[in-house]
Amino acid sequence: MIILKGKETALTIREELRVEIDSLKSEHGRAPGLAVILVGQDPASEVYVRNKKIACEKSGIISYAHHIDGGVAQQELEDLIKKLNADDKVDGILLQLPLPKGLDSQRCLELIDPGKDVDGFHPMNVGKLMLGLPGFRSCTPAGIMTLLERYNLPTSGKKAVVVGRSNIVGKPLAMMLMQYGDFANATVTVCHSRTANLAEEVKSADFVFAAIGIPKFITKDMVKQGAVVVDVGINRTDDGLVGDCDYAALEDVASAMTPVPGGVGPMTIAQLLINTVQAFREHNA
Ligand code: NAD
Repeated sequence: MIILKGKETALTIREELRVEIDSLKSEHGRAPGLAVILVGQDPASEVYVRNKKIACEKSGIISYAHHIDGGVAQQELEDLIKKLNADDKVDGILLQLPLPKGLDSQRCLELIDPGKDVDGFHPMNVGKLMLGLPGFRSCTPAGIMTLLERYNLPTSGKKAVVVGRSNIVGKPLAMMLMQYGDFANATVTVCHSRTANLAEEVKSADFVFAAIGIPKFITKDMVKQGAVVVDVGINRTDDGLVGDCDYAALEDVASAMTPVPGGVGPMTIAQLLINTVQAFREHNA
């Protein structure tokens, strides 16, 4: 079985970006800038934000951290987003989700300038994805597509089953797999909590994408021999971080698979860097 090493691939991408950013800096007199807004003290979010900041620094992107008290008023948060929209040093804006209760995250996401929406959550960018138009693509599914490309695993003409229909992973991933191109062009089925015969659907897949949030949900008997398995899940258990797939059992069945940790997670961050450089290029075009 080929291990789809997201961590290593992400490091390679970061190195490639560092070279690109160096030359952009000499050309334009400044480095790309990413503003990261973290509201409150959610421990998982703090870890994600720290990792994003480190990745930015190592690739040469300047990160502007805005760590705000969880009791912030909606208006104050909106004012900050508007200020960052108008700030020329800021090419990308990332609002770390989830927000504390009482804050309207959808309203905040819709306030972010679509040209700075490096997370690809603004309805304008989601709509562009739907239509196959250029725009910012949400980082986790786009990172997965980049990983498949780097390992030369084309999905064109293959049957892909995505388990999970969230707005940040399942739905955009299904859309990306349906676009044109060798690494897309798949025949896609989206499964979710109400799917009848889920095991049967998954078993028919050449590519399985698990984005459920239940540890070891995808078991050996559900996966076809030779299938490629991409595990998006990050579940904190007594045994540490585990994915949505039973990795050890699937090793005998899958032809290629992402580990957890070290698979999709680092690719999500790599894609954020790619998107930030894309935003910088568009602002300086
Ligand atoms: P979500 O809770 O928004 O969505 C989960 C989806 O799973 C839902 O669409 C639901 O229909 C489906 N589901 C739930 N129970 C099911 C069942 N019994 N059978 C079939 N489908 C079922 O979650 P999300 O935000 O899409 O995240 C999914 C997982 O991916 C989580 O573990 C999350 O931590 C992880 N995640 C990882 C990254 C990363 O960078 N690696 C990024 C985002 C999310």
